[in-house]
Amino acid sequence: MAHRLTVIGTGYLGATHAACMADLGFEVLGLDVDKDKVDRLQAGDLPVYEPGLEAVLQRNLEAGRLRFTTSYDEAADFGDVHFICVGTPQKQGEYAADLSYVDETIGALAPRLDRRCLVVGKSTVPVGTARHLAERLARLAPADGDAVLAWNPEFLREGFAVQDTMHPDRIVIGVPDDPDDAAWAEQVLREVYAPMIAEGCPFVVADYPTAELVKVSANAFLATKISFINAMAEVCEAAHADVTKLSEALSYDDRIGGKFLGPGLGFGGGCLPKDIRAFMARAGELGVDQALSFLREVDAINQRRRIRMVDLARELLGGSFIGRTVGVLGAAFKPNSDDVRDSPALDVAANIRSQGARVTVYDPQALENARRAHPNLDYGSSALDAARDAHVVLLLTEWAEFRDMDPDALGAVVAEKNIVDGRNALDPERWRTAGWTYRALGRP
Ligand code: NAD
Repeated sequence: MAHRLTVIGTGYLGATHAACMADLGFEVLGLDVDKDKVDRLQAGDLPVYEPGLEAVLQRNLEAGRLRFTTSYDEAADFGDVHFICVGTPQKQGEYAADLSYVDETIGALAPRLDRRCLVVGKSTVPVGTARHLAERLARLAPADGDAVLAWNPEFLREGFAVQDTMHPDRIVIGVPDDPDDAAWAEQVLREVYAPMIAEGCPFVVADYPTAELVKVSANAFLATKISFINAMAEVCEAAHADVTKLSEALSYDDRIGGKFLGPGLGFGGGCLPKDIRAFMARAGELGVDQALSFLREVDAINQRRRIRMVDLARELLGGSFIGRTVGVLGAAFKPNSDDVRDSPALDVAANIRSQGARVTVYDPQALENARRAHPNLDYGSSALDAARDAHVVLLLTEWAEFRDMDPDALGAVVAEKNIVDGRNALDPERWRTAGWTYRALGRP
């Protein structure tokens, strides 16, 4: 418990990790190069929407266990365990991951580490990265330093980040080949995660490449499951079958299970799309691209859902968007998040606008991020506002407030009662009874 932790990169992952580790009782210093973000976090103002996290942030700032800085000198001086949580986005115009932020972090931190400490990578990285970074860490660290690297991939879900951090399904750590360093790294991380281990959380110790692969293969599996049911939705559309009934019936088979089997507009966000692409790129470098060729199809199925959504909306409007008004409900890539990275909803909205419609988007939390990413779209202040005078309404992110919408109230403001349910979130009978033409992905 004596450990002092730093968390480097305080975005969705890092802000959560920093606040939750402080909540476990550790002294924590969060570091980010974005001064505005650091100032906001230090003031108790969470820069992202994540249910429950702001309260954890504020109570730990008040308790004096949590601080934020932009200074690597301060971080190196303060911490004996340094968590790396910086971004690893997709490279512009390529499938591979951009590792420049991780490299910069090691470059800034390593020369300052003049005593024994553990550096723990949490960012999602291509297999082989940890080994390369461990060599760089050893090369750049001062002669009197003794820094050891571990890899501890993160599985939290946005929208459930606090719960997932405090009560994870499993903790995976990749440790170095040197047995003494490996034993020490494991011991330190067992101390950090003692409360989770005490409540029975499995703690898996592996080598670096295996730990790195756990994360990307989990995401590859989840993406595959979503694209599987969406491929079935394509077949259902052709065969006039109902994919929601199909999915329900499949879910009762406990070898299959119902999670991640919801048919709809598919996956997006800052993780699944870029992680499966980086995984394919890395497999290519390793000479085993064939092993992951199915992920190309997983990605393609996912992209086709967005096109199908646009086509369905156009069909309802008689074949053209020109001069028509479209109300879009949802901008975040999923509910309970304000994250619009690779958001299917905004992708669809932008596509429709480019075909000549006036598109007004509403989202309960993601409007600010959406505006920044797509300044050309129009934005409403409520679902009713976005739907006003619309010839078709599209439900693209399944926020609870959209599921619970009153079809009569919405019907009173639109120009035509056409709705496309991109998430299979609504009860078709209820909407049809209220006079709406209801269409959905994968359903008659
Ligand atoms: P993010 O973009 O929200 O945050 C990254 C932060 O790192 C930013 O605040 C940025 O300013 C900061 N940063 C960049 N370079 C830096 C540097 N040199 N020093 C200090 N800070 C620096 O990204 P995120 O969603 O938090 O993801 C971070 C990593 O975690 C990625 O590898 C991602 O794949 C992985 N991950 C994310 C989630 C998630 O749900 N968001 C879940 C699991 C894993």
